Amino acid sequence: MVKIFATTFLMIFLGACTSKSSLEFPVSTKVKFAEKPKNIILLLGDGMGLAQVTAAVYSTYKKTNFEQFPVIGFQKTIASDNLITDSAAGATAMACGIKTYRNGVGVNPDTIPQQSILELAELKGFATGLVSTVTIIHATPAAFIAHQKYRNFYEQIATDFLKTDIDLFIGGGKKYFDRRDSDERNLIKELEQKNYVVANYFNNNLSSKLMDPNRNFVFFTADNHPLSKTQGRDYLPKAAKMSINFLKNRSKNGFFLMMEGSQIDWAGHSNEPIQLIDELSDFNQTIGVVLDFAMKNQNTLVIVTGDHETGGLAINPDSKMKKLDLAFTTNDHTGTMIPVFAIGPKAELFRGIYDNTEIYSKMIEAYGWNATN
Ligand code: MG
Ligand code: ZN
Repeated sequence: MVKIFATTFLMIFLGACTSKSSLEFPVSTKVKFAEKPKNIILLLGDGMGLAQVTAAVYSTYKKTNFEQFPVIGFQKTIASDNLITDSAAGATAMACGIKTYRNGVGVNPDTIPQQSILELAELKGFATGLVSTVTIIHATPAAFIAHQKYRNFYEQIATDFLKTDIDLFIGGGKKYFDRRDSDERNLIKELEQKNYVVANYFNNNLSSKLMDPNRNFVFFTADNHPLSKTQGRDYLPKAAKMSINFLKNRSKNGFFLMMEGSQIDWAGHSNEPIQLIDELSDFNQTIGVVLDFAMKNQNTLVIVTGDHETGGLAINPDSKMKKLDLAFTTNDHTGTMIPVFAIGPKAELFRGIYDNTEIYSKMIEAYGWNATN
């Protein structure tokens, strides 16, 4: 009883905060969305379960962007070989619509490559993009474009980026493209031969380059892993804006864009509460950038979810608003269901409790595609 009372009290307290905000919430009630989406933006918080979202919401008096979404669901993240999944199997489920084993990237349990939604979008003449705050060949982005037995086949995953005409990708991991141990190939040269502009993300005249409609683009943010947010990395919200501005004019059909708040997971693995809140705040800011576009555009379905929970995060009894006592039960992933937030045309498909593979089938349905073609 005491707990119920405390929860109610907290909700009233949070409600009182709402009126102080300069932002008008929820934005969704004011927008008339199209019947079906032209574009889908999938935002993945790696390792982001409900406790992480709660921590983000309670770590500030401002309303977070998570609270903007009119449709909420939960996904079951079980892998084909283990109740507790990893980022490879989790992302493969959402990218390709199949359950696979831990470590498998874009392949089924028999290691047979499975077409991803990004590859399908390319075949259908849509513009496509991937953005990550770790290396671009890491499991989450990799599952949308690569097909490898093991997630740590980084150099093989890098070669798979040449097999799909993805319009734009942004992330770390340049060394896997141009300083390879397994062969002498220079994938940056090969990308350039395929009409890509390859540049350092922090080069300051990228926007003018992006105007060229005949070129595709790769922007590296680090040789290996980008910094954590706590160490000063701040590119995700800006890269989100850049990617959307670029992709929205690329194809009359529409676009598919996946962007990852990758290091939420790492903060969970290392049980670092400050880092965790910093990464979640960066991700929340990125959601804001995406919502700004989607509310004006009205043709864009936005889905925000994670692949699994990391750390067994708990918000301990001594917690206060902005002064959370965060605790962890493990350095590993856990099996809790993962919240799914959706807004825009066909967002209602994402209500309920369903398997992670349905993130794929619901996106396919929202686009109005037939999964077999
Ligand atoms: Mg990841
Ligand atoms: Zn992890």
